[in-house]
Amino acid sequence: MLEDFFPSQVFRYCPYCGSDSFAWDGVKSHRCSRCGRKLYTNAAAATIAVIGNPQGELLMTRRGREPSQGMLDLPGGFVDTGETAEHGVMREVKEELNVEVSSLQFLGTFTNQYLYGGTVYFTLDLAFACAVRDLAPLRPADDVSSFVFLALHDIKLEEIAFRSVREVVEGLQRGRIRVAVG
Ligand SMILES: [Zn+2]
Repeated sequence: MLEDFFPSQVFRYCPYCGSDSFAWDGVKSHRCSRCGRKLYTNAAAATIAVIGNPQGELLMTRRGREPSQGMLDLPGGFVDTGETAEHGVMREVKEELNVEVSSLQFLGTFTNQYLYGGTVYFTLDLAFACAVRDLAPLRPADDVSSFVFLALHDIKLEEIAFRSVREVVEGLQRGRIRVAVG
């Protein structure tokens, strides 16, 4: 169960004073009854990149690592501290696929739960359509093992690793999300 790995279950000691008098409030934070400080569980920002080819197919990646190794995904990843989402999505596309994004269109936000290293991270995924002028340098790297261009109607939602990415692809399939760049 994913719930067993929520911060409410996993974090047992105060990170400030080390006390085990560190209790989940049942909503969104732990509080230490020894030093009185709080630790909030907030959503981490992440990005999702929607990239098409001239045939209107969607660029999907295969995950090279856990969680959900081997399943379909879209490019993107966590936003670093101090980084904008726009910079983050362009950096991830370059790191994972070796291509340059020339312009961006914000598409919306989607929520996800990501189990990594024994802890569930709650993410707020910002989706962007990314225009890539030159697809020739495409090469999988980092946590991407391969990529594939798929017609939207050929993509099976159950083969997609994460809820947020499924929602983006389903939105594209149903015309709820419309891409203007690219
Ligand atoms: Zn404490």
